[in-house]
Amino acid sequence: MFSLKDKVTIVTGASRGIGREIAAQMASRGAVVVAAARGDNAAGTVAAITQAGGRAEVASLDVTDEGSVAAMVSGTLERHGRIDVLVNNAGIARDQLMLRMKRDDWDQVLATNLTSAFTCAQAVLKPMVKQRSGRIISISSVVGQMGNAGQANYAASKAGLIGFSKALAREVASRSITVNVVAPGFIETDMTKELLAKAQGDWASQIPLGRAGTTADVAAAVCFLASDEASYITGQVLAVNGGMYM
Ligand code: NAP
Repeated sequence: MFSLKDKVTIVTGASRGIGREIAAQMASRGAVVVAAARGDNAAGTVAAITQAGGRAEVASLDVTDEGSVAAMVSGTLERHGRIDVLVNNAGIARDQLMLRMKRDDWDQVLATNLTSAFTCAQAVLKPMVKQRSGRIISISSVVGQMGNAGQANYAASKAGLIGFSKALAREVASRSITVNVVAPGFIETDMTKELLAKAQGDWASQIPLGRAGTTADVAAAVCFLASDEASYITGQVLAVNGGMYM
């Protein structure tokens, strides 16, 4: 079930956290993973996948740089001849209350979390349209669905991913390309380490399932949406949040 055998899959932000686990789980299901992050930051991910018997390669990618995105996509096409799955996972947070938020905090978060999805999706769409198949999965957040004080920039970028994906899903459905969103709640990674440590009790009380999520919880949802079994699902937001927002 949920085999990804031979599917050429790009995962952005694959150097650590959720992206690293998505890359590992997809490779363990047979995907050929292009693990993308800045510089050779995804080398550790690729080494671990290869050691476990999977197939993966490092790609140097800055999602805010159009030239870098174009080079990563054309390199993937040269090596593999097709692109089956794009996972837009790379993301940052620059939290600040609105009155103190700097324009640069807004611009950087929107460029990394939202404009990157536009750039990457546009770059993979041509080959996917030609193939008449493809999967585009973007990692949003519960914060994009319910808001969070101090995260106006982050919430806007993550809510933007949802609207973007629904519009694109309608555009490309006739080519058998599906476009979906996974919206995690609080997941233990570098991004949330401090936050979770500071407010352990608070978060737990807001989560019906009573715990923070794991990167494996999120990766499993992404693998499902990338699989053949999910071929009739498009324009959807799959929440992986322990019931925090229903
Ligand atoms: P993380 O541990 O901080 O990892 C972020 C990843 O994004 C890294 O691999 C980083 O790669 C990459 N990245 C950042 N800027 C980039 C850029 N300009 N170009 C290429 N790659 C870039 O974060 P995470 O917690 O795993 O989060 C992954 C995604 O899930 C994000 O989109 C985040 O918003 C979302 N999310 C997380 C949570 C959570 O609770 N953790 C909840 C909901 C949603 P480098 O090596 O290049 O820095």
